[in-house]
Amino acid sequence: MAFLIIDTDACIGCGACVQVCPFAALEMDGSVAAVNDNCTACGACISECPVEALSLPEKQAAPADGASYSGVWVWVEQFRGQAAGVSWEMMGQGRILADRLGTTLSACVLGENVAEVAKEAIAYGADRIFLADHPTLCTYRTDPYSQVLVDLVREYKPAIFLLGATTRGRDLAGSVATHLYTGLTADCTGLEIDAETGLLQQTRPAFGGNIMATILTPNHRPQMATVRHRVFEMPTPDPARQGQIVAVPVDLEEAEIVTKVLDFIIEEGEVNLADARVIVAGGRGVGGPEGFAPLRELAQVLGGAVGASRSAVDAGWIPYAHQVGQTGRTVRPDLYIACGISGAIQHRAGMSTSRVIVAVNKDPEAPIFEIATYGIVGDVRDVVPALTAQFRKKLSRQ
Ligand SMILES: Cc1cc2nc3c(=O)[nH]c(=O)nc-3n(C[C@H](O)[C@H](O)[C@H](O)COP(=O)(O)OP(=O)(O)OC[C@H]3O[C@@H](n4cnc5c(N)ncnc54)[C@H](O)[C@@H]3O)c2cc1C
Repeated sequence: MAFLIIDTDACIGCGACVQVCPFAALEMDGSVAAVNDNCTACGACISECPVEALSLPEKQAAPADGASYSGVWVWVEQFRGQAAGVSWEMMGQGRILADRLGTTLSACVLGENVAEVAKEAIAYGADRIFLADHPTLCTYRTDPYSQVLVDLVREYKPAIFLLGATTRGRDLAGSVATHLYTGLTADCTGLEIDAETGLLQQTRPAFGGNIMATILTPNHRPQMATVRHRVFEMPTPDPARQGQIVAVPVDLEEAEIVTKVLDFIIEEGEVNLADARVIVAGGRGVGGPEGFAPLRELAQVLGGAVGASRSAVDAGWIPYAHQVGQTGRTVRPDLYIACGISGAIQHRAGMSTSRVIVAVNKDPEAPIFEIATYGIVGDVRDVVPALTAQFRKKLSRQ
């Protein structure tokens, strides 16, 4: 995947580029510089060359011939053989898009010993699985994963390629789209097919969530988008479904991969907001770090997790992992209880699709009441313990 162009007639063999390359992608080949497959097209070397012998190809690739691209693809993210929920949610939406286009739905499963994940992908709606099972793919790393997917896209030419907007998915989608010179719409909240053109309509919040923008990729392929967890419904798997598994030959050598995973360290007190069915969230109105104790108690009684507004996180009252909103987690629980949260647009961007929203706020004019299913005007210090006591009583009777 070498990108850099070296004008070997101009190169004076000074080696300045070799010194500066962060990926060991440049070496001396006799008296001129040469680039190897480690090149990521970062461009760090270009300004170092005293004779302007280095350049990158034009970023604007020739428009793709849309007619030769077909099918909807989903990257199935997995960790230690456990697929990410967002992957199955995208399979559900991918199936709808594929049916609308009258085409197939394919899943890309990368990892080591992940044949079971491939079978699951069929149950979740895939017609075909590209299964790349190889030791170098055991844990996620950008370069090998990107290389496998880019090669697959070049060979099979999908029209649409969807990835989860997880930490890994965002990283991978950016790398794949860059290598393919195609567009990528991040954090979509809606994916539809334009009835007239057959193009993928990629809808996402823009300008801090104040407007929804619908983005098209008319000239380049595949049309790529990432989607956050819980944006789409989880489909029901059908274990009886049949599909084709394509074993992908993987031509990767560990020695050629520049990143190494040394260890996994699980953060203590890790919170899984994305999967929580109930979230009790606190904002500046809880008054301080101690104000989260009654919220934790309520969450515990309801079997839920504790969320927070950015103000509470910025104040150091609770760690960032609990933040809900545009710059935090997107959540879609069955029940979201917002305590002392005003309901700023950036907070709503992360929780407004919750099934039932209960807002507790002493200000009857607080914007959170505009989207609340039930509103309680009152002091969190009175209302939250009262709710906890009532829920405890009701739930203990069941
Ligand atoms: C680029 C950008 C990204 C952002 N990302 C996020 C994000 O991801 N998540 C997020 O949350 N915010 C985000 N924000 C910040 C956002 O704009 C708001 O500032 C923030 O959400 C406000 O937090 P809050 O509701 O806790 O505090 P406030 O707006 O101060 O509201 C506190 C509320 O508590 C009520 N209250 C006070 N005392 C009590 C009491 N005793 N009992 C009951 N109610 C009480 C008040 O009436 C008030 O409504 C972002 C901002 C920007 C610019």
